[in-house]
Amino acid sequence: MTPPYCAVCGKDFRGEYFHTGNGGELIRFADYLPLLEGSVGMPAGAAWFCRSHVDAARSLCALIQKDALDSLRQLFGQFSPPIPGPMRDPELWVIVAGANLGAVARLVRSASGWTPAQAHERIKAGPFLLISGWPSELARWEALLREAGATTEIRYP
Ligand SMILES: [Zn+2]
Repeated sequence: MTPPYCAVCGKDFRGEYFHTGNGGELIRFADYLPLLEGSVGMPAGAAWFCRSHVDAARSLCALIQKDALDSLRQLFGQFSPPIPGPMRDPELWVIVAGANLGAVARLVRSASGWTPAQAHERIKAGPFLLISGWPSELARWEALLREAGATTEIRYP
């Protein structure tokens, strides 16, 4: 199976798909042929689509893949091809620090290693990327930050 890059826009959603099974879907078209037992690769007549394009792709799944992709490209236009690169880790963002600034600032400093001034500056500036890493590592900090009253978000770059 090829990695999950959207067949329309080229969006790389490997990180989110790997960690959560979300971010997009594999759509099978009328000419879909499953891989033979024990073989690897991409099955014919199937393609990945990001969450922005998966509904449109699914609505065309009665067509053969080539015709569906032609229609989707007419609908959404031509995108530049994806640039392959390493899969990036999920990110923990602090959206709003909340009323308990002291506690949130201490957690921000512990998680990031920033100085008090750096942490204060980031918190004041608005939503910021705190750390990136594996979901289990992010979940620990996310739980502590939420307990301290902060609003957080996990993002998949
Ligand atoms: Zn897309």
